[in-house]
Amino acid sequence: MKTDKKIVILTTGGTIAGVGEEGRTVGYAPGALSAEELISAVPQIKNIAKIEVREICSVNSDDISGKIWLKLAGTINSMSEDKDTAGFVITHGTDTLEETAYFLNMTVKTDKPVVLTGSMRPSTSVSADGSMNLYQAVCTAASDRAKGLGVLVVFGDNIFSARTVVKNSTYRLNAVCGGEYGTLGVVRDGEVFIYQKPVKVHTVDTEFDVSDIDVLPRVNIVYFAVDSDPALLEFAAGHSDGIVIAGAGAGEFSMDFKNIIENIKIPVVISSRTGGGIIVKDNLICKNTIAADDMSPQKAAVLLRLGLTKTNEKNALQAMFFKY
Ligand code: ASP
Repeated sequence: MKTDKKIVILTTGGTIAGVGEEGRTVGYAPGALSAEELISAVPQIKNIAKIEVREICSVNSDDISGKIWLKLAGTINSMSEDKDTAGFVITHGTDTLEETAYFLNMTVKTDKPVVLTGSMRPSTSVSADGSMNLYQAVCTAASDRAKGLGVLVVFGDNIFSARTVVKNSTYRLNAVCGGEYGTLGVVRDGEVFIYQKPVKVHTVDTEFDVSDIDVLPRVNIVYFAVDSDPALLEFAAGHSDGIVIAGAGAGEFSMDFKNIIENIKIPVVISSRTGGGIIVKDNLICKNTIAADDMSPQKAAVLLRLGLTKTNEKNALQAMFFKY
């Protein structure tokens, strides 16, 4: 099924490029394989399409930064203009893969497939999962069926939407999953099957243009738990352009938190630490805050950073949370 299509693979590091003691799954160095070594471990991808590889960075994904996101979005936006390029694959650590995927879902201006993948086990472990994930990601990026679906994540035979994908385990092979919303489709022996489409606005239809942005606004997340010190809120407010609260239940917190939040002058988004469900406007304890809808704290932080490139007006930001 070799085609004349070109797939660009952008590497960023992570466990998929991890090297450690032969056979073990922990105690390895993420991002140790070069881009060429990573690709040469999966020779089958050359049967799918012409492959061009570029190393964006080589880091543990906890060291991914706004600067790297801007580089990735800029690279994809300029390379997607090449008519020979059919799609993109990004290899990435799983820890923050969902944040990078959602950032790109809001900022790439192409309907060509952009597919992130990674692995839970390093390349040197028994039954490493990176090779199959990379193969299936390339098959998805080369498939016309994956066009126009927004940024995708391929992991363990499944195709997930960037908006809903989540990592929900420290070690399970299917830790990168669709959360409450499941999968858009599957990959079997290189063939792509799609069963659902995302309905939220993405890629070419968003208002976010990061081509002239060098530094993204600063957003920090404050996690509420019993007896959390509200001074954390004051500290975060002094070091941020916006704050996300990971509240308990439907975005709730103590009276001590409420008293401080009511007086914070920068945008404050309320999300939930539960890992599921939605925050509606009626759930908001403080009138000056913004409901995160169904966004996890970490995805709400991505959207708030992008929203703040446009406005810091509360109602306009709230509208973005219901739209994207
Ligand atoms: N710590 C690694 C990373 O996110 C974990 C992984 O890739 O699975 O880079």
